[in-house]
Amino acid sequence: MNYGWAIAGGVAGIPIGAAMRGIVFRNAVASGEPLRTACPGCGHTPRRWQVRCASCRSWFGVPGVIELSTAVVLALLLGRFAGQWDVGAFAFLGVLGVALAAIDVAVRRLPDRLTLPAYPVLAVLLAAAASATGDLPALGRALLGGLALAAAYYVLALVRPGQLGGGDIKLAGLLGMGLGWLGWPILVLGAAAGFVLFSLVSLGLLAARRITLRSQIAFGPFMLAGAFLAATVL
Ligand SMILES: [Zn+2]
Repeated sequence: MNYGWAIAGGVAGIPIGAAMRGIVFRNAVASGEPLRTACPGCGHTPRRWQVRCASCRSWFGVPGVIELSTAVVLALLLGRFAGQWDVGAFAFLGVLGVALAAIDVAVRRLPDRLTLPAYPVLAVLLAAAASATGDLPALGRALLGGLALAAAYYVLALVRPGQLGGGDIKLAGLLGMGLGWLGWPILVLGAAAGFVLFSLVSLGLLAARRITLRSQIAFGPFMLAGAFLAATVL
């Protein structure tokens, strides 16, 4: 862990998270609905998606959560990938991941508007890192890893319709690219960690009677957390 880079990531994460707040709030709509352009409280169209509506003072999400989450994620990722060519790819995945997790928790969706454009961005960032380091096998692993994890989630979604959806499959492809870049063992562990975290949290919520066996919990945040753990700890 490089502490200089980690501190820089934490400091940068606050304004970046604040900028992502608007993307999260505009995209936190039901499937097929247009992007949110007005405050749900009063219909006022904000000039900027700040923490509160300038007109009716209602909050746009929980204050500080996206900013602090982005700061923590960027601090750990920049500390881990400090000075490496692939730091940009993982910082990108981290910032996008916080936004996707926030939207998934809010509306149980991982919008195509965010996941699909991320594929070419991530591919370019990883290709640039591979050409800088000459590590072309890592780029091959990233592409295969993305395909493999998306295919695995596709099969799971067929087996468990309703629990996993198309958004999870598209997120799995992105995470598979990042984890595959780091190596096959990390890909397997990162994918497995998502299921372990999901099971632990579900059991805890069941025990606390916060959910029932029929409740549906957004899976995206667990996939992201598992991949994040594998990328930063291993
Ligand atoms: Zn308002």
